[in-house]
Amino acid sequence: MQVKVMPELPEVETVKRILNTIIVGATITDVIIHKKRIINGDPQVFKSALIGQTFSHVKRIGKYLIFTFNSDLVMLSHLRMVGKFIEVLLGEEDSKYAHVIFVLNDGRRLCYDDSRQFGKLELSTNEEYMKTKAMQNVGPEPFDIDPATYFHNIQNRSTPIKQTLLDQKLMSGLGNIYVDEVLYLSRVHPETPTNSIDFKTVKLLIEYSIKVLNAAIAQGGTTVRSYRPAAGVHGHFQQQLHAYGKAYEKCPTCNFRFKKIFVGGRGTTYCPSCQINPSVPLTIAITGQKASGKTVISDYLRSIGETVIDTDSLAKSFYQDLNLTKKLEQKLATSLHDNDVFDLDLLRAYLLANPKQIKVINALIHPLVKTEISKIIKESNKDRLYFEIPLPFSYKIYELFNFIIGVEISVEKQQENLEKRGENLGINADNEYMKNRHRLDLIIVNDGTKADLINKFKTFKV
Ligand SMILES: [Zn+2]
Repeated sequence: MQVKVMPELPEVETVKRILNTIIVGATITDVIIHKKRIINGDPQVFKSALIGQTFSHVKRIGKYLIFTFNSDLVMLSHLRMVGKFIEVLLGEEDSKYAHVIFVLNDGRRLCYDDSRQFGKLELSTNEEYMKTKAMQNVGPEPFDIDPATYFHNIQNRSTPIKQTLLDQKLMSGLGNIYVDEVLYLSRVHPETPTNSIDFKTVKLLIEYSIKVLNAAIAQGGTTVRSYRPAAGVHGHFQQQLHAYGKAYEKCPTCNFRFKKIFVGGRGTTYCPSCQINPSVPLTIAITGQKASGKTVISDYLRSIGETVIDTDSLAKSFYQDLNLTKKLEQKLATSLHDNDVFDLDLLRAYLLANPKQIKVINALIHPLVKTEISKIIKESNKDRLYFEIPLPFSYKIYELFNFIIGVEISVEKQQENLEKRGENLGINADNEYMKNRHRLDLIIVNDGTKADLINKFKTFKV
């Protein structure tokens, strides 16, 4: 698996180390610029200033590379998404996306390669470069940061801690991969409001940031690919990631499944059992095959004082909205109203004759159900909420739940239960469920009495 993400601090550090082994002492004899947009400033000035310069060494600040020369000149480079430097030997061809080429006096060329063209090269001087806008926005790295100052600086923020940790002005060095690692190891939920995190935890986050970054640097970074295989940069660290990219795999600590959510628009993997957000209720969905006994569990939970939300009645409540039912009527091109009053029996009869049209209904109702569930979770002051939900996979409603429990039943028993209710198993009724079994945290097989089923459910402990 190749992780296609921005190079993070460890990768840039690795690039810096390799550059220092290959370009120090080499003199630039020419600069070929194929894409002017890579250069911040006048490309002609860039070129003529660099010709004749001898590389001294390369430093790194945050994710910036700082090339120094045997003069006052400095070149800043940010690789952004996929930028890389590639050493091309005499007689070899330039790399595919070599947009800026530094021709060296020994015949080698250093290509700045960037298929996305987001990276930048910029000239400055020893005196000036720290004052450039780019450098002003780079905060201290976890290695150098003072935990008390950092704690003070983030204390008033209500944004999720993940977003705070990604803010390079406050602390530089953690990108999307490593921030998930740090939060997992620190057992902090990525959405925990920053201002609810105490100093002890902030210190822990910084400690793990240092550990994770050092481990990644030692492994040569995660995403440095094709630098030059000969230079030995393959980035094997990605195989050692604990959380990132492991959604729905089992957490080695607790055996529950990692979940994927979006925090500030960034894909985020976390373990719902190891990383609990104290500011929102724990959410547990009970789903399963049709007539498998979900309600037996819901009734039991209510009997012991737990809150169970029946999402079916939630969905049905939307049919009270005449605007919505009229819209549905239009979409299905069938009459669903009697004197402007919605008639559920008409819809049922229509579905019996046109079972495939359930898709049209779901497309209208399920996004509303999803919104309503997130509202319930957000506004609840309970520690935990249970949801009985037949279709948590539609419109990725499952993203809202920390845990999903599936109830399964034998064909014979399912048939028996359906007959008791006077229903029959619709065509492909359990398809969605079966397709998404890999997302379930616990599967309970209902093959005994009600008491047996409840006892099996009780094995779920969080
Ligand atoms: Zn866990």
